[in-house]
Parts: sequence; structure tokens; C-alpha cells
Amino acid sequence: MKVKPEGSPGLYVHVPFCRSRCTYCDFHVAALRPGVVTDYVSALILEIQHHADAGFSPETIFIGGGTPSALSVEDWTRLLKCLSESFQSGLKEWTIEANPESIDEQKIEIALSLGVDRLSTGAQTFVETGLALLGRRHDAQRVHEVHDLFQKLGVPRTSLDLIVGWPGQAIDSVNTDLAAVKEIDPDHISLYHLSYEQGTWLHSMRERGGLKPIMDDTCIELSRAFLQGLQEQGFERYEVSNLYARGGASLHNLNYWERGEYLGVGSGAASFMEGLRWKNKPDVQKYISAGGSPEKVSIETPELLEVVTELIMLELRLTRGMNLNRFKTETGLDFHEICGESLHSFEKRGLLIQGENAIRASSEGFEVLDSVIVKFVEDAEERLNEGT
Ligand code: SF4
Repeated sequence: MKVKPEGSPGLYVHVPFCRSRCTYCDFHVAALRPGVVTDYVSALILEIQHHADAGFSPETIFIGGGTPSALSVEDWTRLLKCLSESFQSGLKEWTIEANPESIDEQKIEIALSLGVDRLSTGAQTFVETGLALLGRRHDAQRVHEVHDLFQKLGVPRTSLDLIVGWPGQAIDSVNTDLAAVKEIDPDHISLYHLSYEQGTWLHSMRERGGLKPIMDDTCIELSRAFLQGLQEQGFERYEVSNLYARGGASLHNLNYWERGEYLGVGSGAASFMEGLRWKNKPDVQKYISAGGSPEKVSIETPELLEVVTELIMLELRLTRGMNLNRFKTETGLDFHEICGESLHSFEKRGLLIQGENAIRASSEGFEVLDSVIVKFVEDAEERLNEGT
């Protein structure tokens, strides 16, 4: 099944190196060792060229990690040049994740000269105790300096990542973050809730009783205050965790939430093309040895229930909601027939709003979106099992 045949895919480029691991991070990352990084970039270039030669042409590029900005100037230039030469035509957006401690004037100038038009910085918070707890390698001042550089060098679109709900966070910290956002004035904000993923330092500290997470109710209150403050500054929410003031949505991420196609290159990168999902094996050494033809793992064609689940999970994250016509076209199912009863109940409670051919979450609905999604997926599973 070809999904979204009208759309061009996104390209995700994974640079999995970090100097140290943040306390909340469970991503596929490896230690930053210069020789290994250079070999990795060489393998990445071969994989990118292989796809370009096969006719792959993305509408968006997103270089993430890991810490892409931790590459040396030489590796940074080689990678960006390869992407620029391979994919300039038809490109609508090119984002790089730039960490405050490793991005500098020279790297920004190189990126801009090669066609990058969006830089996203992981600030997480502007409160020093929060930064220390999250294991970040920069201070709040450095984020201000980096954004001053972005402004001076004319970066067309900027974004800032922030985290709400870290242990010990209080309303004062939210106000500190809001004041910093106002001063920096980024075009786009991603505001994530802290989650305690298995295997992270924060998770094990919580399990051992070494730190006290803030209560769910407090977290909701902080999140509300944060969102309200951002909206008062002119930010418009378009996804449960994402807002923009200027320059629109992140087109690359919007494509994920619309269940569009994407190709991932690099160790551990995931892809979804022509109805098939797979991942490159998450192993940096093996990735380097494979010389541009990495082993693919977890190859699967999503079954009908997975397609239903993905559409519900992804599209309900968007403020414009889930398109019911598209749901029918892609699944052959009428959403009202399989989930009508729950939909009605959520609507009565003010959590969901029905428009013409779409359902969307209200602000209250976004706060309990996970449980709304779980109920719809349970309904769908039940109905599909009845039919088998
Ligand atoms: S910089 Fe990003 S990828 Fe690296 S450890 Fe921190 S959160 Fe994880």
C-alpha cells in the first residue's frame, strides 16, 4: 500500500554521537571519538549517494541525533556538501539540530551557504538547577549567545526545544523560561513533557527513590501555564507539543504526523516507504563496516490494526485533527462505525470536537490524549476481531 502518493518524502540523517548522555535520554547514541566519527560520516555519505543515485528526492531534510553540531568542521562540511549536491532540487526545508555547546559561527556560515534554512537548539530550560539535573552540557547564557549568532548571521528559521515537568520544577522556573523565550524570540518552539524512559539515569534514580518526580496534576498546571504564556507571546499551537510564531510548522515533522513517507540514513535510522517500515541496524561499528549498505532490521508491512492505530495516534496530535475521509480511504473503515460510541462520550466531556470530516482534541483533550487514543485503539481492535 502506497501511502500519501501525492507527497514527497522526508530524509532523516542520524548523527549518533554525544560527549555525554543527558539524564533523560534513551536515544541510540555513541561516544564522540574523532576517528570513529570521521569513518561514520564517510559511510553516511556513501549511503546518501546510494539513495540519490537511485532517484530518491526528498522535500525535507532533518539532521538529528545525537549531536550533529559536535562534528568537526571538516566532517560537518563533507556531510552538508554531499546533501547539498545530492538533493537541492525540490527541497522545501532543511533543518539541523544544533546543540548550544557545539555550534559556532563557522559551522552556521557553512550550513547557510550550503542551503540549510532552519536550526533547532536544545535549550530544555533556562534554569541552571534544571540544566544540571537534566545533564546538559551548556548553561542558559550559551543559548542566548547562540541565538544572537543565528540572528547576526541571518538564519531564516529558528526553533527551541524545551522540557516541562522536571523534578523540582515550579511555576517560577516556567516564568524564567518564558522570559528567556521572549528575549530570544525564536520562530518555533517544541515543548516536551519529561518522561522517565527505562535505562535512563532519571528512571533509575526515581526507582531507587533518589528523586521525587512532580505530581501529574502539578505537571499539567505547569504545562498549562507554559502554553498560555507562549500563546500570549504570539505562538500558535499546531501539534500537541509544537508551536510557531513565524515561519510555520516544521514540515519534516508534520510529514511524520501525517503518516507520510520518509527515509532514514545512518545507524539506527528508521524508514517508512511504500507501505514498508524498517530500521538500519543500530550499531555504529557495523554501520561503518557496511560502507553505505547497512543491514536493515525490523522490516514489516503494517497490518490493518497498525495502520488504524498509527492514523489515530499521529493525526490526533495535530490541532487540525484527524481527517475522517482519509481514515476511510486508507483503512476502508468508517471511524464512526468502529469508535462512534467513545467519540460521542469524549465529545460530551469536552475532550474532542467534531468538525466537517475531522475530529480534533480540545485543550483539555490534549491533556489526556494518551487515554483517548488508547480507548479508540481498543475499540478498533475489538471491532476488527469481531470481523475475523
Ligand atoms: S544531546 Fe540529545 S541525543 Fe545526546 S544525550 Fe543529550 S538528549 Fe540524548
